[in-house]
Amino acid sequence: MATTPTSPDRLAVLEPATEEVLRELPRAGVAETDAAVAAARAAFPTWRDLAPGDRAALLHRLTGHLEAHHEELAVLEARNAGKPLASARGELGMAIATFRYFAAGPERLLGDTIPVAGGVAMTFREPIGVVALITPWNFPLSIASWKMAPALAAGNTVVLKPAELTPLTALRFAELALEAGIPEGVVNVVVGPGRTCGQRLVEHPDVGKVAFTGSTEVGASIAAGAAATIKRVTLELGGKSANVVFADADLEAAALAAPDAVFDNAGQDCCARSRILVQEGALDRFLELMGEAVGRIRVGDPLAEGTTMGPLISAAQRETVASFVPEGAPVAIRGEVPDGPGFWFPPTVLSPVSPGERAATEEIFGPVACVIPFRDEAEAIALANDTIYGLSGSVWTRDGAKALRVARALEAGNLSLNSNSSVRVTTPFGGFKQSGYGRELGPHAMDAYTEVKTVYYRTQES
Ligand code: NAD
Repeated sequence: MATTPTSPDRLAVLEPATEEVLRELPRAGVAETDAAVAAARAAFPTWRDLAPGDRAALLHRLTGHLEAHHEELAVLEARNAGKPLASARGELGMAIATFRYFAAGPERLLGDTIPVAGGVAMTFREPIGVVALITPWNFPLSIASWKMAPALAAGNTVVLKPAELTPLTALRFAELALEAGIPEGVVNVVVGPGRTCGQRLVEHPDVGKVAFTGSTEVGASIAAGAAATIKRVTLELGGKSANVVFADADLEAAALAAPDAVFDNAGQDCCARSRILVQEGALDRFLELMGEAVGRIRVGDPLAEGTTMGPLISAAQRETVASFVPEGAPVAIRGEVPDGPGFWFPPTVLSPVSPGERAATEEIFGPVACVIPFRDEAEAIALANDTIYGLSGSVWTRDGAKALRVARALEAGNLSLNSNSSVRVTTPFGGFKQSGYGRELGPHAMDAYTEVKTVYYRTQES
């Protein structure tokens, strides 16, 4: 049988740095998706009814087991997603930290007691049941862990549908979970197309919630589909984040950090600060410093020591990204790429770009940044908010009050001041506007995987 990425029942998983087939897999369809939901449903009562300490102990064992396989998973992720090994190690480290953090969850699933007439009312946080997790290809196991860890800690069972381009660490994760003692059926992975497997999960009557990370377009169709069965939905969607640099900032720090904030993961990052707003007067110096930093980016073999940027995920993604840099585009800075096979695209900075241009408004999801000048604080805020998205962003200035004022005025869920770092296991993450709804990670993440039940207990004697 022909084994191509488009064959209906076989999937060829490619290595983006070589364009060669890394693994061939059976491709799931509706029947396999239904079987996974049935397995998750059958496993739910036992998993839910485990004593909190026992569920916590199993999640701790799983954390330890993942830690023992950290390097193996990092190499697999680096090869399948085409990301530098150092980045893959960091992401897998975060996945492990996420499981460690939420392993404490089962014993912290607290409710309230509320004084009422005639007795007492109390609340419980009950698991939803079977939760479907639909994830993208850019941070495969890391994003899946943000969903799996709180969902499992809260007592749900899960069906994970990873992106077809990058399913390998999810499949290995499912094996490791079983080895660590997580009961059969608690973690299920279905590898198949979004339009069949993903859609079936959205429609399936036995799925209680869909947690989705991906594009705004697919997120909208998932929200619409889930409405038919009133499924709970959380959506982590696209972004077009602004990196606002005032002239009074530590310009060197801002400019040297700017490339990483947009070219990390070859720009395939929902938090990419791809609109760099620089105050007039600081623009020339900023571009000069940023040019030096871009010159230090090493694009190449993800497994080679010293590589800081890999290829794009696919030929199709490269074509999309290239469409934002047509002949005659105002390329101010361009990095180098290797020759030969691989979906390479050089780090590219466009300047000057006017705010309404396509490159400045659409999510590129590749290593292309736009530099846009602004006059004053009011204009910076207006430009930064002039987007359908609201995921993340940065503000650079030495004026502390201005930093906080601008951060409060920006319509985005995750901001950083004099830094570009805004994702942590211990803090909430999610978007404003069309970047989605709901929050992942942080102390309240299990709220999104539970229902509140109120129980009234009459104590008054009749
Ligand atoms: P995508 O929306 O094309 O696919 C995401 C997942 O949805 C995949 O598993 C896919 O198979 C599935 N899917 C596709 N069509 C579906 C359908 N009709 N029903 C159900 N499932 C379906 O996204 P992508 O190209 O894999 O990832 C890139 C996008 O993800 C970007 O827009 C990026 O900004 C976004 N993203 C957001 C975050 C965040 O946390 N906000 C993080 C990473 C990526």
